[in-house]
Parts: sequence; C-alpha cells; structure tokens
Amino acid sequence: MNEQGKLCPKCGQDIGIWTIIKALWPTMLSCPHCKAAIRYDNSGWGLITVGIIFCLPILSILAANIDFFAMSFVALLFTASIISLLIWLPMELFMVFYLRRNQKLILKTK
Ligand SMILES: [Zn+2]
Repeated sequence: MNEQGKLCPKCGQDIGIWTIIKALWPTMLSCPHCKAAIRYDNSGWGLITVGIIFCLPILSILAANIDFFAMSFVALLFTASIISLLIWLPMELFMVFYLRRNQKLILKTK
C-alpha cells in the first residue's frame, strides 16, 4: 500500500483527508502537524483530466433533461449551485482518495 500520499514528507504524520479537501488545489497543501508547505508531485493535469471525464457524462445528461431557458433566474441559480455541489462533492472525495492512494507528497520548494 502506498503511504507516500498520506504521510507528510517532513514529520511523517498522516495529513488526513480534510487537509486535502480544504486546500484550493493539491499543490497548495500544508501539513496540519508541522505546518510544512507540501504538495502532491505531478498532480495538476491528471486531476483536470479526471475531473473532465467525471463531469462530462453528468453534464450532458443534465443538459438533455433540463430546460434552462424555461426557468426563472433565481431557480436557475439555485439549480446550478445544487448541481455543482452534487458534482463537486463526489469529485472532491474521489480526488482525495485518488491522490492519497496514487500520488506522492513532497516538500514545496520556493
Ligand atoms: Zn508534517
């Protein structure tokens, strides 16, 4: 089992799931134990690809079934935020588990 995606390269402790979720991007992490600036090696494009593959089928199903033009602006805004939350949440969790399992944490160098 790969432990390099879970343990801080500086202090060796598990950075946890929440640290990755609350970071804006997997290259902008900091260890909750020793506060070291860390990032996932090599994650940017892989994640974008995963995101697009994950989102496309959902978006096309939605686009085919919802008549966006028939909705009021508030209803449209409400629907859009619910949909993005529904898409974002499983994707974020999927990304977190993917990163922890397959990627390697490294210390950020300036
Ligand atoms: Zn640490």
